[in-house]
Amino acid sequence: MRTALVTGGGRGIGAAISKRLAKDGYRILLTYCSSSKPAEMVVDEIRNSGIDAVAANCDVTDAREVSLLATHPWVAAGIDVLVLNHGRYDRIDAKLLDIEHLRRTMSTNFEGAFLVWEAVKSQLSNDARICVIGSQLGTRGSSHGADYSASKAALATWARSLAQSLAPEGKRVNIVAPGFVDTDILAGDSSEKRASREQEVPLKRIGTPEDIAGTVSFLVSDESDYITGAVIHVNGGLYLP
Ligand code: NDP
Repeated sequence: MRTALVTGGGRGIGAAISKRLAKDGYRILLTYCSSSKPAEMVVDEIRNSGIDAVAANCDVTDAREVSLLATHPWVAAGIDVLVLNHGRYDRIDAKLLDIEHLRRTMSTNFEGAFLVWEAVKSQLSNDARICVIGSQLGTRGSSHGADYSASKAALATWARSLAQSLAPEGKRVNIVAPGFVDTDILAGDSSEKRASREQEVPLKRIGTPEDIAGTVSFLVSDESDYITGAVIHVNGGLYLP
């Protein structure tokens, strides 16, 4: 059976991706860092649908934990799809950002993705598909997320570089850059803020985790066989680079 590894696959966008790829026929190895309960619930839901799934605890900033992940039997058996979805976003005014915070964000969003890739790369199948979850802010920047925007920009250019390097082997790498998506990242919004976000989006709604999962499903399928190194913006028209 084909295997998909989804980092941060236990909640938010990652949970929707895990469930969607399970529907597509992959057994799911998802990772969580601090939220074991939601991760176990996603695993149960997938198993109840007749597809195998398992959750592994892995803080991507901890090189030892990432190398332990690489010893998981499902990784050893071969990974067909790798989704680097995990991420942190702490809203901080760009002019107040300090080096410690910058390092923390880079180490999770960018270096963490690199560490996971490095740990599992020898176990990727010949035609493996890799999908990286970036952000619109990785292109446009943000007054309250300089560290986050920089980390997502680094992630996207790294992934595009990898796409160019891996293409001759038949492996594909693409980036999905969401706009506003209804997860815990937006949970602190007041109802006024949420309404103003909805108005800001030309399609007049906040995105759902399933909107992102559907795009990931396409990008790891045979339907997108001629797409690699692309940044696909999924944002209801909010930002059109
Ligand atoms: P959530 O905050 O809901 O989920 C974040 C996920 O990242 C959780 O599964 C969390 O795991 C995991 N994670 C955080 N830190 C670590 C770490 N150190 N090691 C391993 N895993 C970690 O966010 P979303 O679902 O909204 O975000 C998913 C991705 O989409 C992120 O990369 C985010 O930047 C991106 N994105 C989201 C947007 C949005 O509007 N929601 C917009 C643009 C991009 P755990 O809970 O177990 O700690």
